[in-house]
Amino acid sequence: MPFRSQQTIRRAVAVAGRGYWSGQPCRVEFLPAPANTGITFLRTVRGVPVRIPVSAESRVESRARTNLAVAGVTVQMVEHAVSALVGLRIDCCLVRVSAEELPGLDGSSRAFVAALDEAGIERLGSPIKPLVVREPCRVTDGEAWIEALPPQHAGLSIDYEIDYGPGPIGRQTLSFRLSPDGYRADVASARTFITRSEAERLRAAGLAADVSTSDLVVFGDDGPIDNPLRWPDECVRHKVLDLVGDLALAGRPIHAHVRASRSGHRLNALLAARLRSLSWRRASA
Ligand SMILES: [Zn+2]
Repeated sequence: MPFRSQQTIRRAVAVAGRGYWSGQPCRVEFLPAPANTGITFLRTVRGVPVRIPVSAESRVESRARTNLAVAGVTVQMVEHAVSALVGLRIDCCLVRVSAEELPGLDGSSRAFVAALDEAGIERLGSPIKPLVVREPCRVTDGEAWIEALPPQHAGLSIDYEIDYGPGPIGRQTLSFRLSPDGYRADVASARTFITRSEAERLRAAGLAADVSTSDLVVFGDDGPIDNPLRWPDECVRHKVLDLVGDLALAGRPIHAHVRASRSGHRLNALLAARLRSLSWRRASA
C-alpha cells in the first residue's frame, strides 16, 4: 500500500446558509486539525463546547439524512459537508457549526468544496491507516442492498444503481473511482432530489417550509420542476455523493469496491458500522 500522509486544511474557511428542514441560518467553519483527530463537529450549546466525531457510534436514526449526536447535542444533515472533506482527502478537520442543522445550500457539496479548495491542503506527516476490506460484507433491506468487496485498486471505487421505476428519474447507474479531481468534476455539483409527492408530505408535516424548487431538484411527473438538471443522471451522482459522506462513519478511509442498489443513508451507515466493527475485531485478534 503506498504511503499517504494524513491531511488537513491550511487555514480556516467558512460557508453559511439555511438548513432545509429547520430553515435556521447556520455558519459552518472548517478549521485545521492535528493528525489522528479525524473529522469532528463542534457545537457550543449554552456556553459548553461539545465535540461530535464523525463515526458510527455518534450516528442517530433519522429520515433521509445523516445526523450525529453526543451527550444529547445533535448536528443534522452532515453528509454533504463530510462528503466534500472525504472527496478532497481531508482526513482531519474540526467543523464548527453555529446551529443544529447544516445549510442545504444548492443541495450539493459544491460550496463546501469551493471553500476547502480555497483553504488548501496541509500534510500532517503521520501516515493514514485505511480500512482495507478483505472479505465481502453486505447489508440488505428488502430490494435495497449495499456491499463492500476487496478493493480493485488502492482506494475506493463505487458502482451505484437507482431504480425509481417508470417516471422521470427511472433507472440510473454510475461507476466512480474516488479521487479529488474525479470528485470535483463528476460528483460535487450533483444536487439532492425529491419527488413532488415527497415534497408535499414534508410541507404537510411543517418541514422545509422555506425550501423552493430552486433550492434542490423536485421531480414532477414530467421531470424536474423549474430547475434544469446539471447531468441527465444527476440523481445517481448525488447518491454517490451521499455514500462517500456516509462511509466516513467507518472513521477511516475505506479501501474497497462498493456496489449499491437503491441504498440510502440508513443502509450506507449500517455498512460503515459493520466495516468498522469487522476491522476492530481483526485488529484485536
Ligand atoms: Zn444528499
